[in-house]
Amino acid sequence: MQDVAISAIDPSRFADVVGPERTELLVTSGERARAVLDGRSVVNVNSTATGGGVAEMLHALLGYVRGVGIDTRWVVIEGDPDFFAVTKRVHNHLYGGRGDGGDLGEAEHALYQQTLVSESVSLATKVQPGDVVILHDPQTAGLAEDAKRLGCAVVWRCHVGIDTPNDNSRRGWEFLRPYLDRFVDHYVFTDARFPPPWVPQDRCSVIWPSIDPFGPKNQPMTDEQVEAILTHVGILAGRHGERSFIRTDGSPSRVDRCCDVFRTGPPADVATPMIVQVSRWDAMKDMIGVMEAFARFVVPNCDAELVLAGPVVSAVADDPEGGAILRECWEAWRQQPHAVRQRVQLACLPMHDIEENAAIVNALQRHATIVTQKSLAEGFGLTVAEAMLKGKPVVGSAVGGIVDQIIDQETGLLLQDPNDLDAFGSAIIRILDDREFERRLGDGARRRAIETHLGDTHLEQWIGVIDAVVPPVA
Ligand code: UDP
Repeated sequence: MQDVAISAIDPSRFADVVGPERTELLVTSGERARAVLDGRSVVNVNSTATGGGVAEMLHALLGYVRGVGIDTRWVVIEGDPDFFAVTKRVHNHLYGGRGDGGDLGEAEHALYQQTLVSESVSLATKVQPGDVVILHDPQTAGLAEDAKRLGCAVVWRCHVGIDTPNDNSRRGWEFLRPYLDRFVDHYVFTDARFPPPWVPQDRCSVIWPSIDPFGPKNQPMTDEQVEAILTHVGILAGRHGERSFIRTDGSPSRVDRCCDVFRTGPPADVATPMIVQVSRWDAMKDMIGVMEAFARFVVPNCDAELVLAGPVVSAVADDPEGGAILRECWEAWRQQPHAVRQRVQLACLPMHDIEENAAIVNALQRHATIVTQKSLAEGFGLTVAEAMLKGKPVVGSAVGGIVDQIIDQETGLLLQDPNDLDAFGSAIIRILDDREFERRLGDGARRRAIETHLGDTHLEQWIGVIDAVVPPVA
């Protein structure tokens, strides 16, 4: 189990974006939480410090939690590939799929428990009785019993789920239930449709994650910075220049590493409209569907380019399927005609330095004319919130948390059937053909992101959970 460093961030920074009243509320909520916790710590446990929405959300949130004076920590469990193959299978089941098609029986329970035995020994060195332990997602569910035995209040936060349960999702829940049922004090889900029926409603909250408007992923960038970063990494044929960004600790830095890019011919021209989807290489994100819709409906109608971007595949420890999915995308790309391959780039973003990676994602989302999130299932979809904050129209599937974020026709376009390539292509063309509509959706998106997706709202809801699980000071 590894500790992840968290630096306190002064909440007064929020005033520039959300105004003094919301900032004041954040500070008072922090004071209330400190009083409730009365010296106890809040310890977050998940399975990766980089890549994917949970790591992103924790990086964004915990600095501010520290900034309001709450003692919070973040530890990451370690496991071997067999453990992560089982947990990814559970994850895929909760999304309603079969994943790699393997079992979730006794052998898988034994494998799962075996890894968590050594992690529970580490956990005992990281917590004190009375602390609040927040376990994230299926990978850490098996630690609930240990955390309870150590005298902690236990919260399990689940970031995945499916809108309409099916046999696969039920099988996934049956696998997890024995690890959670008797040990979890409070559950948190990202969507009200996700909890299985056995989760008690009075001990369950729905909380959306948030994004950090100041970190390298979302901080403002000039057009010159965006162009210089994307030119340097190999995605744009633009002008070289200052490829700078500001790190979370306030120090200046620059993007040095480049992307691995699959493409035919030179990089995209700066003036050409760009459609962008940034996701882990995961079947649920349907990168191939985006490419096919783009090839069939967008290429014949306008000159836009498409960039499908994800992390280099060795980088996300708890996601063993990334390499295979990237290979499938590459195969699908290779089978496209030359004229399509010239206009579709598959980019693997360097992950060695996650703040540099974030700056590249930031530049991509800012350069995009439209951001897509054509997921087949989705927990929340932070990439949607990130694009919205940057004033970008998002074309997203009407699944999971994407439905909560996009108000159709006002802050983006929702695709009712995620498999409808025709409708997806038409939505893109509709925005590309109407600059006024593009601007209106983008402005609406930014307003909504500021209203609902920033850390102050998130923290306020968290404090409600802490109130619910920590016994009052005697
Ligand atoms: N992300 C990133 N680099 C990449 C690919 C993705 O930083 O190369 C980030 C992305 O910007 C977002 C997160 O990973 O913050 C993905 O979160 P989301 O909720 O969209 O999906 P999840 O991965 O949790 O399924």
